[in-house]
Amino acid sequence: DPVRLKDYRPTPYAIRTIDLDVRLDPENTTVTARSRIEPREGTAPGTPLVLDGDELILTSVAIDGRALGTADYEATDKRLEIFAPPAGAFTLEVGTRIAPAKNTKLMGLYRTASNYCTQCEAEGFRRITYFYDRPDVLAVYTTRIEARKAEAPYLLSNGNLIERGDIAGTDRHFAVWHDPFPKPAYLFALVGGDFARISDTFRTMSGRDVTLEIYVEHGREDRGAYAMDSLKRSMKWDEEAFGREYDLDIFMIVAVSDFNMGAMENKGLNVFNDKYVLAKPDTATDQDYANIEGVIAHEYFHNWTGNRITCRDWFQLCLKEGLTVFRDQEFSSDQRSRPVKRISDVRLLKSHQFPEDAGPLAHPVRPETYHEINNFYTATVYEKGSEVVRMLKTLLGAETFRAGMDLYFARHDGDAATIEDFVACFAEASGRDLSQFMLWYKQSGTPELRVAQGYDASAKRYTLTIEQSCPPTPGQPTKLPMTIPVRFGLVGPNGADLAFEAVSGAEVAGDVIVVTEPKHEVVFEGVSAPPVPSLLRGFSAPVRLALELSAEASLFLLASDNDPFNRWQAAQTLATTALIEATRAVRAGAVPSIDPKLVDAFARVAVDDKVDPAFRALTLALPAEADIAREIGSDVDPDAIFAGRDALKKAIATGGRTAFRHLYESLASAEAYSPDAASAGRRALRNSALDYLAHAGETDSVMERYRTADNMTDRLAALGLVVGLGLPEAEAALIDFYSRFDGDGLVIDKWFTVQATAPLAATLDRVRALTEHPAFSLTNPNRFRSLVTAFATGNQTQFNRPDGAGYAFVADHVLTLDEINPQVAARLLSAFRSWRALEPRRRAYAEAELKRVLDKPGLSRDVADIANRSLG
Ligand code: ZN
Repeated sequence: DPVRLKDYRPTPYAIRTIDLDVRLDPENTTVTARSRIEPREGTAPGTPLVLDGDELILTSVAIDGRALGTADYEATDKRLEIFAPPAGAFTLEVGTRIAPAKNTKLMGLYRTASNYCTQCEAEGFRRITYFYDRPDVLAVYTTRIEARKAEAPYLLSNGNLIERGDIAGTDRHFAVWHDPFPKPAYLFALVGGDFARISDTFRTMSGRDVTLEIYVEHGREDRGAYAMDSLKRSMKWDEEAFGREYDLDIFMIVAVSDFNMGAMENKGLNVFNDKYVLAKPDTATDQDYANIEGVIAHEYFHNWTGNRITCRDWFQLCLKEGLTVFRDQEFSSDQRSRPVKRISDVRLLKSHQFPEDAGPLAHPVRPETYHEINNFYTATVYEKGSEVVRMLKTLLGAETFRAGMDLYFARHDGDAATIEDFVACFAEASGRDLSQFMLWYKQSGTPELRVAQGYDASAKRYTLTIEQSCPPTPGQPTKLPMTIPVRFGLVGPNGADLAFEAVSGAEVAGDVIVVTEPKHEVVFEGVSAPPVPSLLRGFSAPVRLALELSAEASLFLLASDNDPFNRWQAAQTLATTALIEATRAVRAGAVPSIDPKLVDAFARVAVDDKVDPAFRALTLALPAEADIAREIGSDVDPDAIFAGRDALKKAIATGGRTAFRHLYESLASAEAYSPDAASAGRRALRNSALDYLAHAGETDSVMERYRTADNMTDRLAALGLVVGLGLPEAEAALIDFYSRFDGDGLVIDKWFTVQATAPLAATLDRVRALTEHPAFSLTNPNRFRSLVTAFATGNQTQFNRPDGAGYAFVADHVLTLDEINPQVAARLLSAFRSWRALEPRRRAYAEAELKRVLDKPGLSRDVADIANRSLG
């Protein structure tokens, strides 16, 4: 049965403190949990205490020092029920036994390399001991850890270290940690093992010195410097941008090589997938560096938005995730280039969240029902959740937004809060009624704005007719109109925004039209010339915009709009129109014809030295195949999309060959590698030029780039081209790359991914063979994702092979992995999420595979949930 938001009730008992005693052993870890528990007001005496558990073995249970008899309780591996607890406060002591070495789900306490670590969000703490494993039960944790000294010289947990020592006469030692901040169980963490440690300090704005420690695998200590630097910049930025200061004496990060997600914000002890910590120039790309900076910031920012203020229940997940993504995006914008960051974020939103919203897995930013919460750590909750916060800022203005945030921190510190609590702070700070705005949290699907324009020259009157709609989504056949902030400019003939004397038909605050009705006629008086409308500047709302603009008007915006985001958008719009036409031509058996004006515009952007190289690189990147598929919407043929896109790419490459050659040569640099945004932008532009040159047939440069590269960004860009284009040197390059990085898992992942994403007919056989490679692993999520998930999500033509073999291969792996790690298996299965939009033949194959998965007996809840919803 699903869990429903409307069924929320507080627990009958509160748990004030918990003292844990954990004795680490791979097969036989013992956990003793002593909790101080009291009935909440209104709880009837004798109300049973029902605690969560998962795959636990109970070894003892006592109340106030007295062991309970079997008539007093019932224990299964899923729950512990105490039939009649004392009427007042009492101490419960529970003993459990677990086997970290057998924990392949990587939830709860598990082994990674030869270390121990935990992952408790969302419901992993119940795999350590019986507890109220839900975010609205906040307790003060004291954690004693004991282990063999040789096996685990470091013993870490949340809070501050209060005691440590050897256990006399044994080979064991212990450490005791105390976290003074009450927290939910999902923020608990424990690490034991042998690591290399990198240390630093940070002085907070009130002058307290905080110890900073990053723990990495031995031999990787030369790869932690960028993460440490990112952490210090994050701490400073949160003080300046939001007035948030760190609150413990120590902040620790542990990098592990087996991790289901990106990272985890456990209080004072963040645990990271090591791909978001480790970097040096010859093993990490510019994108890796940017990801590290962003994820380090994200987890650090959770200390306030997530930890000090947590969520009442898991329906409120976006309260901490959407808000924290917004904060990390703002941080990266301030550290790097704001327009470039915005374009990258919108690309991610459109390629991950828009397809989710358009398919059978669509759900509101705040869902109202779920079967398995792990399946809701989605692009909708995270990325669309961030867009909703950004819209609040756009509507309210920066100052009022900050006042609302200040109020939220002041009022809810120490609370397990809801979205209603959060939005109320902004309503109060602004005096604005935000009840219609709340629909952004409740309605799923991507709204669409249809816009038409008219200009009356004699009256100097310009009119925008704006209509909003939102397509039906699972469980939501009809939608209410929403509040949509449309940042805009009326671009005049010389490229500057035109002034207007008066406006009517909608609230217009500064450069934002606030759309609230199904239809607005927005009338601007005193407009001196016919403008070209620049709408949704900065992508001010996560909507689809349908506005008929001539190619001339788009080319004009590309050259002249003073909003950089919309200059980029103009190029995307032009390319998308051309790509849809080219795809249609291919399907009709014709040769696509490409407009030379478009080719010319791309070549001109490439060499326009007045424009930031990173921005030029983003503009030159054609919309991804999946984006084109989404725009086409139904009866999708991925091979035709690929052929159409290839034709456009080759036309631009050939027409702009001289420009790309010039660019490639002029951007050569003798400087040592630096990961800063400006250098990364120059590399991105140079590699984009290389990509076009290769598509124009100039493949010699590619191999030479591969051989002479002095950093991973350039080497991998060249390898991707050699392999993706199926050049004769591909095998030799792959062998060379492997031998250079043999044993370095994170780099071998890149080697797997390059092969899995090559759009070649031989790819599936190669991927199948690579699943037998000694470096591949079903139990390590990074290895598995870099090969199998990369194939399913990053290779449109081969996953969607017309014979259905790509689907069958992926479904087989979903079923195999489900018995090892259901969370990662469920993620993989969501690669089928756009299956209904496919042409009939592929659709039938995909549906058959989804049904085959669903029919398997003993399926995990994670995979069953995705299969059920996908089939809808
Ligand atoms: Zn997060």
